[in-house]
Amino acid sequence: MATLSFYGAAGTVTGSCSMLEVGEQRFLVDCGMFQGNKTIRALNEKDFPFEAAGIDFLILTHAHIDHSGLLPKLVKHGFSGPIHCTAATADLLSFMLLDSAKIQQSNTERWNRRRQRKGEEPLEPVYTEEHARRTLELLTPHGYETWFEPGADIQVRYWNAGHMLGSASAEVKFPDDPSGNTMRILFSGDLGPEEKVFHPEPDAETGFDYIVCESTYGDRERDDYTLEKRRDNLRKELVRGLSAGGNVVIPAFAVERSQELLHDIGVLLARGELPETTVFLDSPLAKAVTEVFIKHAGSLDDVELDESQLFRDPRFRLVQDVEESKAINRITGGAIIISASGMADAGRIQHHIKNNIWRSNATILFVGYQAPGTLGYYITSGEPMVRIHSKEYLVRAEIRRLGNYSAHADQGELLDWIMERTPVAGRLFLNHGDDDAREELARLLSERGFDPEKIVMPRMDEIFELVAGDAKSKGRLPERIPQAELLSDWNNDYAALVAALTQRLYEAEDDAERRRIIATLRAAL
Ligand SMILES: [Zn+2]
Repeated sequence: MATLSFYGAAGTVTGSCSMLEVGEQRFLVDCGMFQGNKTIRALNEKDFPFEAAGIDFLILTHAHIDHSGLLPKLVKHGFSGPIHCTAATADLLSFMLLDSAKIQQSNTERWNRRRQRKGEEPLEPVYTEEHARRTLELLTPHGYETWFEPGADIQVRYWNAGHMLGSASAEVKFPDDPSGNTMRILFSGDLGPEEKVFHPEPDAETGFDYIVCESTYGDRERDDYTLEKRRDNLRKELVRGLSAGGNVVIPAFAVERSQELLHDIGVLLARGELPETTVFLDSPLAKAVTEVFIKHAGSLDDVELDESQLFRDPRFRLVQDVEESKAINRITGGAIIISASGMADAGRIQHHIKNNIWRSNATILFVGYQAPGTLGYYITSGEPMVRIHSKEYLVRAEIRRLGNYSAHADQGELLDWIMERTPVAGRLFLNHGDDDAREELARLLSERGFDPEKIVMPRMDEIFELVAGDAKSKGRLPERIPQAELLSDWNNDYAALVAALTQRLYEAEDDAERRRIIATLRAAL
Protein backbone atom coordinates (compact mmCIF):
# COMPACT_ATOMS: atom_id res chain seq x y z
CA MET A 1 0.00 0.00 0.00
CA ALA A 2 1.14 3.48 -0.76
CA THR A 3 -0.13 6.98 -0.17
CA LEU A 4 -0.15 9.69 -2.83
CA SER A 5 -0.68 13.35 -1.92
CA PHE A 6 -1.07 16.38 -4.18
CA TYR A 7 0.56 19.47 -2.67
CA GLY A 8 0.47 21.69 -5.75
CA ALA A 9 -0.64 21.93 -9.40
CA ALA A 10 -4.03 20.38 -8.55
CA GLY A 11 -6.75 22.48 -10.15
CA THR A 12 -4.03 24.93 -11.23
CA VAL A 13 -0.83 24.73 -13.26
CA THR A 14 1.93 25.86 -10.92
CA GLY A 15 3.57 24.67 -7.70
CA SER A 16 3.94 21.07 -8.89
CA CYS A 17 4.57 18.83 -5.88
CA SER A 18 3.35 15.31 -5.16
CA MET A 19 4.34 13.08 -2.27
CA LEU A 20 4.52 9.30 -2.36
CA GLU A 21 4.73 7.35 0.88
CA VAL A 22 5.80 3.73 0.58
CA GLY A 23 6.10 1.97 3.95
CA GLU A 24 8.40 4.12 6.05
CA GLN A 25 9.84 5.97 3.06
CA ARG A 26 8.50 9.21 1.73
CA PHE A 27 9.60 11.19 -1.27
CA LEU A 28 8.48 14.07 -3.44
CA VAL A 29 8.02 14.28 -7.17
CA ASP A 30 8.88 17.92 -7.99
CA CYS A 31 8.77 20.90 -5.64
CA GLY A 32 7.74 23.84 -7.77
CA MET A 33 7.11 27.48 -7.14
CA PHE A 34 3.58 28.88 -7.22
CA GLN A 35 3.27 31.50 -9.96
CA GLY A 36 0.41 33.73 -11.04
CA ASN A 37 -1.71 36.14 -9.03
CA LYS A 38 -0.65 37.51 -5.63
CA THR A 39 -2.85 35.09 -3.68
CA ILE A 40 -1.24 32.07 -5.32
CA ARG A 41 2.27 33.49 -4.91
CA ALA A 42 1.59 33.92 -1.19
CA LEU A 43 1.67 30.09 -0.96
CA ASN A 44 5.44 30.28 -1.52
CA GLU A 45 5.77 32.14 1.78
CA LYS A 46 3.63 29.71 3.78
CA ASP A 47 4.91 26.59 5.53
CA PHE A 48 5.01 23.33 3.58
CA PRO A 49 2.06 21.11 4.54
CA PHE A 50 4.62 18.41 5.42
CA GLU A 51 7.90 18.08 7.34
CA ALA A 52 10.72 18.97 4.91
CA ALA A 53 13.34 17.15 7.00
CA GLY A 54 11.22 13.98 6.88
CA ILE A 55 11.52 13.63 3.08
CA ASP A 56 14.05 10.94 2.11
CA PHE A 57 14.71 11.95 -1.52
CA LEU A 58 13.24 13.85 -4.43
CA ILE A 59 12.47 12.89 -8.02
CA LEU A 60 12.54 15.91 -10.31
CA THR A 61 10.89 15.82 -13.75
CA HIS A 62 12.37 19.00 -15.26
CA ALA A 63 14.02 22.33 -14.59
CA HIS A 64 11.09 24.75 -15.04
CA ILE A 65 10.70 26.89 -11.93
CA ASP A 66 7.06 25.83 -11.40
CA HIS A 67 8.48 22.29 -10.88
CA SER A 68 11.85 23.04 -9.25
CA GLY A 69 11.58 26.55 -7.78
CA LEU A 70 10.92 25.62 -4.14
CA LEU A 71 13.79 23.11 -3.86
CA PRO A 72 16.00 25.69 -2.08
CA LYS A 73 13.13 26.39 0.33
CA LEU A 74 12.90 22.65 1.01
CA VAL A 75 16.63 22.65 1.79
CA LYS A 76 16.25 25.76 3.95
CA HIS A 77 13.66 23.87 6.03
CA GLY A 78 15.85 20.81 6.61
CA PHE A 79 15.71 18.57 3.54
CA SER A 80 19.13 17.02 2.88
CA GLY A 81 18.45 13.97 0.70
CA PRO A 82 19.48 13.43 -2.92
CA ILE A 83 17.59 15.27 -5.70
CA HIS A 84 17.40 12.93 -8.68
CA CYS A 85 17.12 14.43 -12.16
CA THR A 86 18.53 14.09 -15.67
CA ALA A 87 22.02 15.42 -16.41
CA ALA A 88 20.73 18.32 -18.55
CA THR A 89 18.25 19.30 -15.83
CA ALA A 90 21.11 19.46 -13.31
CA ASP A 91 23.12 21.71 -15.67
CA LEU A 92 20.14 24.05 -16.23
CA LEU A 93 19.36 24.25 -12.51
CA SER A 94 22.91 25.37 -11.72
CA PHE A 95 21.92 28.71 -13.33
CA MET A 96 18.15 28.77 -12.88
CA LEU A 97 18.05 28.26 -9.09
CA LEU A 98 20.66 30.95 -8.43
CA ASP A 99 18.75 33.30 -10.73
CA SER A 100 15.52 32.48 -8.89
CA ALA A 101 17.21 33.12 -5.52
CA LYS A 102 18.41 36.53 -6.73
CA ILE A 103 14.85 37.39 -7.78
CA GLN A 104 13.52 36.28 -4.35
CA GLN A 105 16.11 38.42 -2.58
CA SER A 106 15.61 41.55 -4.68
CA ASN A 107 11.79 41.29 -4.49
CA THR A 108 11.98 40.97 -0.71
CA GLU A 109 14.32 43.97 -0.46
CA ARG A 110 11.84 46.04 -2.49
CA TRP A 111 8.86 44.94 -0.36
CA ASN A 112 10.82 45.58 2.82
CA ARG A 113 11.57 49.18 1.80
CA ARG A 114 7.81 49.64 1.39
CA ARG A 115 7.07 47.84 4.69
CA GLN A 116 9.66 49.95 6.50
CA ARG A 117 7.91 53.15 5.33
CA LYS A 118 4.67 51.78 6.80
CA GLY A 119 6.42 50.78 10.03
CA GLU A 120 5.95 47.04 9.37
CA GLU A 121 8.35 44.22 10.28
CA PRO A 122 10.74 43.22 7.44
CA LEU A 123 10.10 39.90 5.65
CA GLU A 124 12.64 37.16 5.00
CA PRO A 125 13.17 36.03 1.38
CA VAL A 126 11.62 32.62 0.59
CA TYR A 127 15.24 31.52 0.13
CA THR A 128 18.64 32.97 -0.66
CA GLU A 129 21.55 32.20 -2.99
CA GLU A 130 23.15 30.25 -0.12
CA HIS A 131 20.13 27.87 0.00
CA ALA A 132 20.24 27.55 -3.81
CA ARG A 133 23.94 26.64 -3.67
CA ARG A 134 23.30 23.97 -1.02
CA THR A 135 20.50 22.60 -3.21
CA LEU A 136 22.82 22.26 -6.21
CA GLU A 137 25.12 20.02 -4.13
CA LEU A 138 22.25 17.54 -3.72
CA LEU A 139 21.58 17.11 -7.47
CA THR A 140 22.13 13.51 -8.59
CA PRO A 141 22.04 13.15 -12.40
CA HIS A 142 20.80 10.10 -14.36
CA GLY A 143 20.36 9.13 -18.01
CA TYR A 144 17.05 8.32 -19.71
CA GLU A 145 15.59 4.79 -19.65
CA THR A 146 18.02 3.55 -17.00
CA TRP A 147 16.80 2.21 -13.64
CA PHE A 148 18.22 3.63 -10.43
CA GLU A 149 17.33 2.86 -6.81
CA PRO A 150 16.76 6.06 -4.83
CA GLY A 151 15.30 4.19 -1.82
CA ALA A 152 15.20 0.64 -0.41
CA ASP A 153 13.30 -1.48 -2.97
CA ILE A 154 12.16 1.63 -4.82
CA GLN A 155 13.23 1.84 -8.45
CA VAL A 156 12.88 4.77 -10.82
CA ARG A 157 13.65 5.44 -14.47
CA TYR A 158 13.22 8.52 -16.61
CA TRP A 159 11.53 8.70 -20.02
CA ASN A 160 11.92 11.55 -22.46
CA ALA A 161 8.98 13.95 -22.09
CA GLY A 162 9.83 16.17 -25.10
CA HIS A 163 8.95 19.35 -23.20
CA MET A 164 12.32 21.09 -22.69
CA LEU A 165 16.01 20.23 -22.44
CA GLY A 166 16.34 17.41 -19.87
CA SER A 167 12.58 17.02 -19.31
CA ALA A 168 11.37 13.60 -18.22
CA SER A 169 8.44 11.49 -17.16
CA ALA A 170 9.29 9.42 -14.08
CA GLU A 171 8.38 5.74 -13.77
CA VAL A 172 8.40 4.49 -10.17
CA LYS A 173 8.08 0.86 -9.07
CA PHE A 174 8.18 -0.90 -5.71
CA PRO A 175 6.90 -4.14 -4.14
CA ASP A 176 3.26 -3.73 -3.13
CA ASP A 177 2.64 -5.40 0.25
CA PRO A 178 1.01 -7.64 1.22
CA SER A 179 0.27 -9.09 -2.25
CA GLY A 180 3.94 -9.15 -3.16
CA ASN A 181 3.15 -7.74 -6.61
CA THR A 182 5.03 -4.79 -7.99
CA MET A 183 3.25 -1.44 -8.10
CA ARG A 184 4.11 0.75 -11.08
CA ILE A 185 3.32 4.45 -11.18
CA LEU A 186 4.10 6.91 -13.97
CA PHE A 187 4.37 10.67 -13.39
CA SER A 188 4.13 12.41 -16.76
CA GLY A 189 5.81 15.67 -15.69
CA ASP A 190 5.08 18.25 -18.40
CA LEU A 191 4.66 16.72 -21.85
CA GLY A 192 5.89 18.32 -25.06
CA PRO A 193 4.13 18.56 -28.43
CA GLU A 194 4.82 16.20 -31.35
CA GLU A 195 6.53 18.96 -33.38
CA LYS A 196 9.20 20.51 -31.22
CA VAL A 197 12.67 21.52 -32.28
CA PHE A 198 15.49 19.92 -30.20
CA HIS A 199 13.39 17.11 -28.65
CA PRO A 200 11.69 13.93 -29.90
CA GLU A 201 8.03 13.43 -29.02
CA PRO A 202 7.35 12.09 -25.51
CA ASP A 203 7.67 8.39 -24.86
CA ALA A 204 7.19 5.89 -22.00
CA GLU A 205 6.19 2.30 -21.20
CA THR A 206 2.63 0.94 -21.09
CA GLY A 207 0.55 -0.95 -18.54
CA PHE A 208 0.78 1.02 -15.28
CA ASP A 209 -1.16 0.70 -12.05
CA TYR A 210 -1.40 4.47 -11.71
CA ILE A 211 -0.62 7.42 -13.97
CA VAL A 212 -0.40 11.02 -12.85
CA CYS A 213 -0.77 13.09 -16.01
CA GLU A 214 -0.59 16.82 -16.68
CA SER A 215 -3.58 18.40 -18.44
CA THR A 216 -2.44 22.00 -19.07
CA TYR A 217 -3.93 22.14 -22.59
CA GLY A 218 -6.66 19.56 -22.00
CA ASP A 219 -9.20 21.95 -23.51
CA ARG A 220 -7.08 23.42 -26.28
CA GLU A 221 -6.33 22.14 -29.76
CA ARG A 222 -3.64 23.88 -31.82
CA ASP A 223 -3.50 24.14 -35.60
CA ASP A 224 -1.19 21.52 -37.04
CA TYR A 225 2.15 22.95 -38.08
CA THR A 226 5.61 21.83 -39.07
CA LEU A 227 8.87 23.29 -37.80
CA GLU A 228 9.59 24.55 -41.34
CA LYS A 229 6.19 26.29 -41.53
CA ARG A 230 6.75 27.96 -38.18
CA ARG A 231 10.21 29.12 -39.23
CA ASP A 232 8.70 30.58 -42.40
CA ASN A 233 6.14 32.53 -40.37
CA LEU A 234 8.97 33.88 -38.23
CA ARG A 235 10.87 34.85 -41.41
CA LYS A 236 7.85 36.83 -42.69
CA GLU A 237 7.52 38.70 -39.39
CA LEU A 238 11.23 39.54 -39.20
CA VAL A 239 11.47 40.63 -42.84
CA ARG A 240 8.39 42.83 -42.43
CA GLY A 241 9.65 44.31 -39.15
CA LEU A 242 13.20 45.00 -40.33
CA SER A 243 11.98 46.44 -43.66
CA ALA A 244 9.92 48.99 -41.71
CA GLY A 245 13.25 50.44 -40.54
CA GLY A 246 12.84 49.94 -36.78
CA ASN A 247 13.95 47.24 -34.38
CA VAL A 248 12.14 43.97 -33.82
CA VAL A 249 11.82 43.37 -30.06
CA ILE A 250 10.91 39.83 -28.97
CA PRO A 251 10.01 39.08 -25.33
CA ALA A 252 11.01 35.43 -24.73
CA PHE A 253 11.57 33.08 -21.82
CA ALA A 254 15.29 32.71 -21.10
CA VAL A 255 15.12 28.94 -21.07
CA GLU A 256 14.36 27.00 -24.26
CA ARG A 257 12.24 29.65 -26.05
CA SER A 258 15.25 31.96 -26.51
CA GLN A 259 17.31 29.06 -27.85
CA GLU A 260 14.51 27.97 -30.22
CA LEU A 261 14.40 31.51 -31.61
CA LEU A 262 18.19 31.72 -31.93
CA HIS A 263 18.20 28.41 -33.75
CA ASP A 264 15.44 29.45 -36.17
CA ILE A 265 16.97 32.88 -36.79
CA GLY A 266 20.40 31.26 -37.24
CA VAL A 267 18.95 28.94 -39.90
CA LEU A 268 17.26 31.86 -41.72
CA LEU A 269 20.47 33.92 -41.63
CA ALA A 270 22.58 31.01 -42.87
CA ARG A 271 20.17 30.55 -45.79
CA GLY A 272 20.34 34.25 -46.61
CA GLU A 273 16.59 34.63 -46.06
CA LEU A 274 16.82 37.66 -43.75
CA PRO A 275 18.14 41.18 -44.37
CA GLU A 276 21.50 41.95 -42.70
CA THR A 277 20.86 42.45 -38.98
CA THR A 278 22.41 42.09 -35.56
CA VAL A 279 20.64 39.74 -33.15
CA PHE A 280 20.91 40.60 -29.45
CA LEU A 281 20.05 38.02 -26.81
CA ASP A 282 19.92 40.30 -23.79
CA SER A 283 19.51 38.11 -20.71
CA PRO A 284 22.36 36.78 -18.55
CA LEU A 285 20.29 33.68 -17.75
CA ALA A 286 19.49 33.05 -21.44
CA LYS A 287 23.20 33.40 -22.26
CA ALA A 288 24.16 30.83 -19.59
CA VAL A 289 21.37 28.47 -20.66
CA THR A 290 22.50 28.76 -24.29
CA GLU A 291 25.91 27.45 -23.15
CA VAL A 292 24.13 24.47 -21.51
CA PHE A 293 22.36 23.80 -24.83
CA ILE A 294 25.73 23.91 -26.62
CA LYS A 295 27.11 21.39 -24.08
CA HIS A 296 24.18 19.05 -24.81
CA ALA A 297 24.08 19.79 -28.57
CA GLY A 298 24.80 16.14 -29.38
CA SER A 299 21.49 15.07 -27.83
CA LEU A 300 19.36 17.70 -29.61
CA ASP A 301 16.94 16.68 -32.37
CA ASP A 302 15.91 18.48 -35.57
CA VAL A 303 18.91 20.81 -35.49
CA GLU A 304 19.28 22.34 -38.96
CA LEU A 305 22.75 23.70 -38.37
CA ASP A 306 26.12 22.10 -37.93
CA GLU A 307 26.83 21.48 -34.22
CA SER A 308 29.80 23.88 -34.36
CA GLN A 309 27.58 26.67 -35.77
CA LEU A 310 24.61 26.19 -33.45
CA PHE A 311 23.95 29.50 -31.61
CA ARG A 312 27.31 30.82 -32.90
CA ASP A 313 26.33 32.96 -35.88
CA PRO A 314 28.73 35.94 -36.12
CA ARG A 315 25.69 38.25 -36.13
CA PHE A 316 24.60 37.05 -32.67
CA ARG A 317 25.48 39.11 -29.56
CA LEU A 318 24.88 37.23 -26.30
CA VAL A 319 24.73 40.07 -23.81
CA GLN A 320 25.81 39.76 -20.17
CA ASP A 321 26.75 43.19 -18.77
CA VAL A 322 24.34 45.92 -17.83
CA GLU A 323 26.47 48.47 -19.75
CA GLU A 324 26.33 46.35 -22.89
CA SER A 325 22.57 46.04 -22.42
CA LYS A 326 22.18 49.80 -22.05
CA ALA A 327 24.21 50.35 -25.23
CA ILE A 328 21.45 48.60 -27.19
CA ASN A 329 19.20 51.55 -26.29
CA ARG A 330 21.10 53.68 -28.79
CA ILE A 331 20.15 51.43 -31.70
CA THR A 332 17.02 52.83 -33.34
CA GLY A 333 16.59 50.37 -36.19
CA GLY A 334 17.67 47.20 -37.96
CA ALA A 335 18.27 45.00 -34.92
CA ILE A 336 16.48 41.96 -33.52
CA ILE A 337 16.38 42.16 -29.72
CA ILE A 338 15.41 39.03 -27.78
CA SER A 339 15.11 39.46 -24.03
CA ALA A 340 13.37 38.05 -20.94
CA SER A 341 10.85 37.79 -19.41
CA GLY A 342 8.55 36.22 -21.96
CA MET A 343 5.48 38.06 -20.64
CA ALA A 344 7.41 41.35 -20.33
CA ASP A 345 6.37 41.63 -16.66
CA ALA A 346 9.98 41.88 -15.40
CA GLY A 347 13.57 41.93 -16.58
CA ARG A 348 15.56 43.74 -19.24
CA ILE A 349 12.85 43.35 -21.88
CA GLN A 350 10.95 46.20 -20.21
CA HIS A 351 13.79 48.62 -21.10
CA HIS A 352 13.75 47.51 -24.73
CA ILE A 353 9.96 47.87 -24.92
CA LYS A 354 10.20 51.35 -23.38
CA ASN A 355 12.73 52.34 -26.02
CA ASN A 356 10.80 51.03 -28.99
CA ILE A 357 7.07 50.85 -28.29
CA TRP A 358 6.49 54.55 -29.12
CA ARG A 359 8.32 54.31 -32.46
CA SER A 360 5.96 53.70 -35.37
CA ASN A 361 8.63 51.81 -37.36
CA ALA A 362 9.36 49.35 -34.52
CA THR A 363 7.84 45.91 -34.00
CA ILE A 364 7.13 44.10 -30.74
CA LEU A 365 6.75 40.42 -31.59
CA PHE A 366 5.17 38.11 -29.00
CA VAL A 367 5.87 34.39 -29.32
CA GLY A 368 4.17 32.95 -26.24
CA TYR A 369 1.15 32.96 -23.97
CA GLN A 370 0.57 36.26 -22.11
CA ALA A 371 -1.07 35.77 -18.69
CA PRO A 372 -3.75 38.30 -17.64
CA GLY A 373 -2.27 41.15 -15.64
CA THR A 374 1.17 41.09 -17.30
CA LEU A 375 2.55 43.92 -19.45
CA GLY A 376 2.58 41.54 -22.42
CA TYR A 377 -1.13 40.92 -21.88
CA TYR A 378 -1.97 44.63 -21.95
CA ILE A 379 0.14 45.29 -25.04
CA THR A 380 -1.32 42.34 -26.96
CA SER A 381 -4.87 43.33 -25.88
CA GLY A 382 -4.49 46.48 -27.98
CA GLU A 383 -4.10 49.06 -25.19
CA PRO A 384 -3.22 52.43 -26.81
CA MET A 385 -0.99 53.32 -23.87
CA VAL A 386 0.94 51.24 -21.33
CA ARG A 387 2.66 51.96 -18.06
CA ILE A 388 6.27 50.77 -17.64
CA HIS A 389 8.44 51.66 -14.61
CA SER A 390 5.82 54.20 -13.46
CA LYS A 391 5.73 56.10 -16.78
CA GLU A 392 3.18 56.07 -19.60
CA TYR A 393 4.15 55.14 -23.15
CA LEU A 394 2.08 55.43 -26.31
CA VAL A 395 1.81 52.20 -28.28
CA ARG A 396 2.80 53.18 -31.83
CA ALA A 397 4.91 50.15 -32.72
CA GLU A 398 3.47 47.29 -34.74
CA ILE A 399 2.30 44.65 -32.23
CA ARG A 400 2.53 41.15 -33.70
CA ARG A 401 1.94 37.64 -32.37
CA LEU A 402 3.35 34.35 -33.55
CA GLY A 403 1.78 31.10 -32.33
CA ASN A 404 3.10 27.56 -32.21
CA TYR A 405 6.19 28.11 -30.09
CA SER A 406 4.55 25.98 -27.40
CA ALA A 407 6.41 23.57 -25.14
CA HIS A 408 3.20 21.74 -24.18
CA ALA A 409 1.27 18.91 -25.78
CA ASP A 410 -2.17 20.08 -26.89
CA GLN A 411 -5.44 18.24 -26.28
CA GLY A 412 -5.03 15.69 -29.07
CA GLU A 413 -1.41 15.01 -28.12
CA LEU A 414 -2.29 14.52 -24.43
CA LEU A 415 -5.08 12.09 -25.39
CA ASP A 416 -2.70 10.14 -27.65
CA TRP A 417 -0.01 9.96 -24.96
CA ILE A 418 -2.47 8.67 -22.35
CA MET A 419 -4.10 6.13 -24.69
CA GLU A 420 -0.64 4.87 -25.73
CA ARG A 421 0.13 4.17 -22.04
CA THR A 422 -2.99 2.00 -21.51
CA PRO A 423 -4.12 -0.27 -20.00
CA VAL A 424 -4.17 1.48 -16.63
CA ALA A 425 -5.02 -1.08 -13.95
CA GLY A 426 -5.81 1.39 -11.16
CA ARG A 427 -6.39 5.10 -11.65
CA LEU A 428 -5.47 7.99 -13.89
CA PHE A 429 -4.96 11.20 -11.91
CA LEU A 430 -5.30 14.38 -13.95
CA ASN A 431 -3.32 17.21 -12.40
CA HIS A 432 -1.47 20.34 -13.63
CA GLY A 433 -4.48 21.90 -15.33
CA ASP A 434 -7.47 24.01 -14.40
CA ASP A 435 -10.84 22.30 -13.92
CA ASP A 436 -12.16 23.09 -17.43
CA ALA A 437 -9.07 21.51 -19.00
CA ARG A 438 -9.26 18.42 -16.77
CA GLU A 439 -12.99 17.89 -17.30
CA GLU A 440 -12.71 18.24 -21.06
CA LEU A 441 -9.79 15.81 -21.17
CA ALA A 442 -11.70 13.31 -18.99
CA ARG A 443 -14.75 13.56 -21.29
CA LEU A 444 -12.71 12.94 -24.44
CA LEU A 445 -10.82 10.06 -22.80
CA SER A 446 -14.08 8.28 -22.01
CA GLU A 447 -15.17 8.85 -25.64
CA ARG A 448 -12.03 6.99 -26.65
CA GLY A 449 -12.98 4.09 -24.39
CA PHE A 450 -11.08 4.97 -21.21
CA ASP A 451 -13.20 3.92 -18.21
CA PRO A 452 -14.44 7.22 -16.67
CA GLU A 453 -14.62 5.51 -13.24
CA LYS A 454 -10.84 5.30 -13.31
CA ILE A 455 -10.26 9.04 -13.81
CA VAL A 456 -9.55 11.09 -10.69
CA MET A 457 -9.19 14.90 -10.48
CA PRO A 458 -7.35 15.51 -7.22
CA ARG A 459 -7.89 18.74 -5.27
CA MET A 460 -5.06 20.73 -3.75
CA ASP A 461 -3.71 19.02 -0.58
CA GLU A 462 -5.80 15.90 -1.18
CA ILE A 463 -4.39 12.56 0.00
CA PHE A 464 -5.12 9.17 -1.61
CA GLU A 465 -4.55 5.64 -0.43
CA LEU A 466 -3.45 3.48 -3.36
CA VAL A 467 -4.60 -0.06 -2.61
CA ALA A 468 -5.56 -3.02 -4.79
CA GLY A 469 -5.89 -0.97 -7.97
CA ASP A 470 -8.15 1.54 -6.26
CA ALA A 471 -7.52 5.06 -4.95
CA LYS A 472 -9.45 6.05 -1.86
CA SER A 473 -9.42 9.72 -0.96
CA LYS A 474 -8.48 10.20 2.67
CA GLY A 475 -9.64 13.79 2.45
CA ARG A 476 -7.86 17.10 2.25
CA LEU A 477 -5.69 19.07 4.60
CA PRO A 478 -7.16 22.39 5.81
CA GLU A 479 -7.26 24.90 2.93
CA ARG A 480 -4.09 26.99 2.57
CA ILE A 481 -5.90 29.51 0.35
CA PRO A 482 -9.52 29.57 -0.86
CA GLN A 483 -9.92 27.40 -3.97
CA ALA A 484 -11.71 30.22 -5.84
CA GLU A 485 -8.65 32.46 -5.44
CA LEU A 486 -6.40 29.98 -7.26
CA LEU A 487 -7.33 31.27 -10.69
CA SER A 488 -8.05 34.94 -10.21
CA ASP A 489 -7.86 37.30 -7.26
CA TRP A 490 -8.81 40.93 -6.71
CA ASN A 491 -5.33 42.17 -7.65
CA ASN A 492 -6.01 41.23 -11.29
CA ASP A 493 -9.31 43.13 -11.20
CA TYR A 494 -7.55 46.12 -9.66
CA ALA A 495 -4.76 46.18 -12.29
CA ALA A 496 -7.36 46.02 -15.07
CA LEU A 497 -9.35 48.86 -13.48
CA VAL A 498 -6.29 51.12 -13.17
CA ALA A 499 -5.29 50.43 -16.78
CA ALA A 500 -8.84 51.16 -18.03
CA LEU A 501 -8.99 54.39 -16.02
CA THR A 502 -5.59 55.58 -17.30
CA GLN A 503 -6.69 54.92 -20.86
CA ARG A 504 -10.05 56.70 -20.35
CA LEU A 505 -8.31 59.76 -18.87
CA TYR A 506 -5.84 59.83 -21.73
CA GLU A 507 -8.60 59.70 -24.35
CA ALA A 508 -10.71 62.40 -22.65
CA GLU A 509 -11.42 65.57 -24.68
CA ASP A 510 -9.99 67.99 -22.14
CA ASP A 511 -9.12 68.44 -18.48
CA ALA A 512 -12.72 69.33 -17.60
CA GLU A 513 -13.86 65.92 -18.80
CA ARG A 514 -11.00 64.26 -16.88
CA ARG A 515 -12.16 65.96 -13.69
CA ARG A 516 -15.73 64.83 -14.37
CA ILE A 517 -14.59 61.20 -14.75
CA ILE A 518 -12.65 61.37 -11.47
CA ALA A 519 -15.57 63.07 -9.66
CA THR A 520 -17.98 60.35 -10.88
CA LEU A 521 -15.62 57.64 -9.62
CA ARG A 522 -15.19 59.32 -6.24
CA ALA A 523 -18.94 59.64 -5.88
CA ALA A 524 -19.31 55.92 -6.61
CA LEU A 525 -16.83 55.19 -3.80
ZN1 LIG B 1 7.38 22.75 -17.67
